[in-house]
Amino acid sequence: LQLKMVKSEKMEVVSHLAASISHEVRNPLTVVKGFLQLLKKDCPDPKQKEYIEISIQEIDRANDIIINYLTFAKPAPENIKVLNIEEELKRAISIIEPMANMNSIQLNTKIDTHYIQGESQVLQQSLLNILKNSIEAMPNGGSLYIETKREQGRLSIKIEDSGKGMSQAQLSRLGEPYYTTKEEGTGLGMLTAIRIIESFKGKVEVTSTLKKGTTFNIYLPLFIGGNEEAAVTNE
Ligand code: ADP
Ligand code: MG
Repeated sequence: LQLKMVKSEKMEVVSHLAASISHEVRNPLTVVKGFLQLLKKDCPDPKQKEYIEISIQEIDRANDIIINYLTFAKPAPENIKVLNIEEELKRAISIIEPMANMNSIQLNTKIDTHYIQGESQVLQQSLLNILKNSIEAMPNGGSLYIETKREQGRLSIKIEDSGKGMSQAQLSRLGEPYYTTKEEGTGLGMLTAIRIIESFKGKVEVTSTLKKGTTFNIYLPLFIGGNEEAAVTNE
């Protein structure tokens, strides 16, 4: 069994880079896409038209990567709300459920109501990146277990898969920018997920055993500063 305490130093290095990428690169991509669409419209040659179509798709892919992985670089304090983790997890699960079903993955949950504070969209991104990895680690089926509990005054979210697992060497690289073992991977998902949890003043611990599975333990500060009714009306 391998244990990793994820540290923030290596994330800090790229957070500045990430901010520049999402702000500076999206504009030129939009311009290029616009011109490609114009070219495509007037293009008489089917072969050339196909090349333009592929170019547009690739621009969309690049845009997706920026939107999905680097948006955390631009926090929006006005979107910080009291969040019910039960609702947040259920929303994330509903998004990954079709993917889990397609891969014969059994989903088990033990999720309760707890309140935390943060930006819902950002939290979703972090949860989805972790859940997506768990599913991708079980290409031949398996089980995914998600549990919440209150632990030492904090919220603990456990996400446990029965997938490929990681070696000590792999685990120690988790969260490193561009580290991926996947053909089509970006190596940005974990970095983003961990960075987001840290921005919520939480932390992530990962344990993994090769060929057995991986467990993510996410710890977040509970919202205290009102009763639960107040928290609900804040939604
Ligand atoms: P990507 O998914 O694009 O490869 P990530 O940053 O999301 O990039 O993940 C980096 C790498 O960490 C993955 O390629 C994989 O090797 C490993 N990894 C992440 N989560 C898991 C998991 N639940 N089980 C096994 N390996 C994982
Ligand atoms: Mg990933």
